[in-house]
Amino acid sequence: MDKRPIIALAGNPNSGKTTLFNALTGARQHVGNYPGVTVEKKQGRYLFPDGREAEIVDLPGTYSLTAYSVEELVARDFIVQERPDVVIDIVDASNLERNLYLTIQLMELGAPLVIALNMMDVAEDRGVEIDVERLSDFLQVPVVPIVARSGKNIGQLMEVAYQAAQATHSWEPLTISYGEDLDRTILEMERLLRDSPLVRSCPARWLAVKFLENDHEIQERGKRLHPELAERLIQKADEVAAHLKTTVDSYPEALIADHRYGFIKSLLRQNVLRQRFDTDRLYASDKIDKVLTNRFLGPLIMLMVLLGLYKFTFTYSELPVAWLEGFFGWMSGVVDGALPDGMLKSLLLSGVIDGVGGVLGFVPLIMFMFFGIAILEDSGYLARVAFMMDRVFRVFGLHGSSVMAFIVSGGIAGGCAVPGVMATRTLRSRKERLATLLTVPFMNCGAKLPVLALLTGTFFAASQAKVMFLLTLLAWGVALLVAKIYRMTVLKGESTPFVMELPPYRLPTFKGLLIHTWERTWQYIKKAGTVILAISILLWAMMTFPGLPASESERFALKEREIMASYPVEAVLELKQGGEAEYSAEAAALAEELDDLARLKAERALELSLAGRIGRGLESVSRFAGFDWRTNIALVGGFAAKEVVVSTLGTAYSLGEVDPEETEPLAARLANDPAWNPVKAFALILFVMFYAPCFVTVVCIAREAGSWKWAGLAITFNTLFAFALAVLVYQAGMALGWG
Ligand code: GDP
Ligand code: MG
Repeated sequence: MDKRPIIALAGNPNSGKTTLFNALTGARQHVGNYPGVTVEKKQGRYLFPDGREAEIVDLPGTYSLTAYSVEELVARDFIVQERPDVVIDIVDASNLERNLYLTIQLMELGAPLVIALNMMDVAEDRGVEIDVERLSDFLQVPVVPIVARSGKNIGQLMEVAYQAAQATHSWEPLTISYGEDLDRTILEMERLLRDSPLVRSCPARWLAVKFLENDHEIQERGKRLHPELAERLIQKADEVAAHLKTTVDSYPEALIADHRYGFIKSLLRQNVLRQRFDTDRLYASDKIDKVLTNRFLGPLIMLMVLLGLYKFTFTYSELPVAWLEGFFGWMSGVVDGALPDGMLKSLLLSGVIDGVGGVLGFVPLIMFMFFGIAILEDSGYLARVAFMMDRVFRVFGLHGSSVMAFIVSGGIAGGCAVPGVMATRTLRSRKERLATLLTVPFMNCGAKLPVLALLTGTFFAASQAKVMFLLTLLAWGVALLVAKIYRMTVLKGESTPFVMELPPYRLPTFKGLLIHTWERTWQYIKKAGTVILAISILLWAMMTFPGLPASESERFALKEREIMASYPVEAVLELKQGGEAEYSAEAAALAEELDDLARLKAERALELSLAGRIGRGLESVSRFAGFDWRTNIALVGGFAAKEVVVSTLGTAYSLGEVDPEETEPLAARLANDPAWNPVKAFALILFVMFYAPCFVTVVCIAREAGSWKWAGLAITFNTLFAFALAVLVYQAGMALGWG
């Protein structure tokens, strides 16, 4: 064979596929210790020591080959349509029974297969002994034991795979009996399928089983290619389903799964698998879980971990955040000195440095937060969080699979709702899925983080970690409550069962933690340097133009002359010469009066700008929550991306500033502004947390929900809800005199 063979890696989530892929190709793909990390397939190349090459494709992790989720669909479509020369099925040796479930399905499909028995080190530690040769004999598939993490035996694995790829390419599907009723139906369906265009790429029996499993994707494809036939197949499937319901009170899917597991169980009992230790001996992970997921201790520990994470983040990031602030202050000084007054200077100072700089200033905080989260994720603790939250979620009409979507969206702080909304694809029930994707935007994503950090740092500095902790609980509370409301009204319906597998605890590697932290921090920096920068400039323009009308400009000029005329000529001349330090008393007074006037003029120009008018217009409503027009501009801009709330406040306060030499960080400006107080800040925090999702998330919701109706609901409901909450808090807080 001259061309490079194509070798696909398939396997359960968390079986070590990506680790193997990276070891083979030298790539640095994301290795995660929770399910659902690899959704898309990745491609690379393996080089044999003697120069031969192979294409390696890392498929998403799947438990089955039925189109229950995108991962499964991507993996299956690749195997069926691209027909790789060989599929390497990565099997977690420490969890053989469950992993073989996918193996069986791959064999039923008939694709040329090699089994990589991974995590042999873990299996050994647990006293699991596998007779590799017997396993291979029974299945008639080559089996190679490996340790992907250390690279042990992967050379041999590739050699075996290469040989398999050279062999003939006729697919030889495995046939399993599913019990009399189903077997008979399958035979009938196979007969109907013979010679149909549907069976060109996959075996007839496999297709028949898919129709029985109610695989929508296969059914739809059938209807497109051969509507009549598909109709008859679906009818057959329905008939046998009804029959099974009445006779054994079960579904075809369930019976098919039962028989597959039965096949595996009997296989393993043929002296393939032996447990060296007593069976009731607990593995290390199980021992840890006895405590960490304990009914009472578990949630307590979870809350302590969360609080600890915030303490860690805010404490250690304080200093570097201050350094960055100093750096941007220094940069303002340099730009101010180097450029003449004018539009360009205003754009750079107010639009770019005070705007984007404010967002970039929080990079150290983001980094510390992500580092902490990477530890939780890589160690396997995050999966336990999902496990524990599942019990709570069910009460509120959500599903165990919803938890990961919430965490991805920023359940701990610092995620993003866009992948969160996409992560809901693993939910099979449409109503549960909609309820999830409508509520994940309530989490504190990475974009809200600078807003929360700024406001809590300014007004609740003493207890920043605790406030952040409470805000996190509040976010979950609100999300669950709203989900419950949806599930009781527009999304009423039953809930589906959920089984969660807990990956074992693992000691994270330092390199892995650094890669994870950097990947996400870089995302944040990139966004600040592109999207946020563009919006900042746009908003700066909206806050600068159209500028003062001629009549007002004249009024200010007149006033300036009046002030100057009221002082002796010497004072005016002194001012012209500069040298502030040696001003006489009169000159100093004049300078101050002129500064006040300039400040008024800048304020007036900002007020009359396009954005200023919009902000003022909204004040008639927003004042109930204590938001002034500057805040309103920031909030409108925040719909584009939530970081913009920080950058816009930075620009707005910078534009009103007269003397750039006295420039203070935004936090100090807010703290000194009499219009701001802790109550207003808190109302604003709540509003930012819960109002309309950002634009990109809205588009994503519309796409995933299949209709703009739901996206519209997210915008209006969330904004109204957030506003009501902000008004309530502001009014109550002010009435109690906390302002
Ligand atoms: P994927 O979901 O199948 O892509 O799995 P990953 O490659 O992301 O690996 C999941 C976890 O298992 C990671 O923490 C890996 O470091 C770990 N892992 C992978 N292979 C081995 C192995 O052979 N032995 C041990 N002990 N851990 C492994
Ligand atoms: Mg992976």
